[in-house]
Amino acid sequence: MTQATQHQTQQTSATFKALKCKECGTEYEPQAIHVCEECFGPLEVSYDYDALRRHVTRETIQAGPNSIWRYRPFLPVMTDNPIDVGTGMTPLVKSNRLARRLGLKNLYIKNDAVNMPTLSFKDRVVSVALTRAKELGFSTVSCASTGNLANSTAAIAAHAGLDCCVFIPADLEAGKVLGTLIYSPTVMAVEGNYDQVNRLCCEVANTHGWGFVNINLRPYYSEGSKTLGYEVAEQLGWKLPDHIVAPLASGSLFTKIYKGFQEFIQVGLVDDKKVRFSGAQAEGCSPIAQAFREGRDFVTPVKPNTIAKSIAIGNPADGVYAVDIAQKTGGNIESVSDAEIVEGMKLLAETEGIFTETAGGTTIAVLKKLVEAGKIDPDETTVVYITGNGLKTQEAIQGYIGEPLTIEPKLDSFERALERSHTLDRLEWQQVLI
Ligand SMILES: *Cc1c(COP(=O)(O)O)cnc(C)c1O
Ligand SMILES: [Zn+2]
Repeated sequence: MTQATQHQTQQTSATFKALKCKECGTEYEPQAIHVCEECFGPLEVSYDYDALRRHVTRETIQAGPNSIWRYRPFLPVMTDNPIDVGTGMTPLVKSNRLARRLGLKNLYIKNDAVNMPTLSFKDRVVSVALTRAKELGFSTVSCASTGNLANSTAAIAAHAGLDCCVFIPADLEAGKVLGTLIYSPTVMAVEGNYDQVNRLCCEVANTHGWGFVNINLRPYYSEGSKTLGYEVAEQLGWKLPDHIVAPLASGSLFTKIYKGFQEFIQVGLVDDKKVRFSGAQAEGCSPIAQAFREGRDFVTPVKPNTIAKSIAIGNPADGVYAVDIAQKTGGNIESVSDAEIVEGMKLLAETEGIFTETAGGTTIAVLKKLVEAGKIDPDETTVVYITGNGLKTQEAIQGYIGEPLTIEPKLDSFERALERSHTLDRLEWQQVLI
């Protein structure tokens, strides 16, 4: 439980320079802090882009490990030995069947439902945050989580030999709770929603000297999401897409995909191009979509009520920055109902063989809604970010996906069941036709 120590002198292998306030530009030493003392704005890592331009090429990246750490010079760590549990380099899948169903021509799924080690994009941010936590001298790490972050923090802390205590809302899905407990961290199930969990954690961070990945380590943690931008650019053959669609919780992921694209342009790894950014929220927790719809430059907090618990943040820290990016890139931010979210999960599974969780169902449902509203051009190269795995949110689809046909271990029982299922299919079709 050591507090962060001050050994910040050997910055030689670091390409990052400082923490810089996003609002007023004040710079700080890269310690475990996240808020500007002058204006309370959020702090962000800044880099020496001239050095990056000189030293990083497509070839040096391709010669690196098959994980997010191939982009290490763009990440806020100094060590050449980061915590590498195989996070990143997930498939970018050309999704022809889903595209045809929706009337699109160039659709890709970035599939972080199979990210390592805990099957969500959160493994990216946690790999970076815990590597930095070790550099800063923390021995206990923690987080305020909507589920996936607790899974990642507990798993990667176990691998790195760090003590771990995570905080979750008490009403999370069973798969998310179990997928944390298995790594034997201390788990605090808080009787309240995520925003209350987060407020509690801010107090604990001040009193216990722990490294909270998404609070006092947030500037480092959030940089991990940039790798979702880098990988898509590299996997498209060092080109940027025309349009991306991604889910929004705090809004951090969305803003960091944008930062990743901008950095690759700035250091000359890809050609400059305007990429449209569209965001997805659940209607039951859509403060960012509401602000976008009303053209506001502030976000009004809401009380979440949706099956998409992993993205149910009522008071999103990066909401205003997400609105700004959607506006200036010519994108949109839309929300969908819980019923549409379930349909989205089924649609992706039936057309592409990808089982995503509720957040992914939200993103697919918003994709469909944007296409139907003419807000995505069929010819645009569109990349949809699928950020989590469906096996973790099974209760969301229970009762909506049919049941197996139970039969006796006999051929005639099988034949009768098969006949029955054909009849049922025909009846369903007749109903559709009526
Ligand atoms: C956390 C999370 C997000 C979005 O996170 P941000 O707070 O917006 O960075 C999206 N999808 C899933 C599955 C998540 O767990
Ligand atoms: Zn400031």
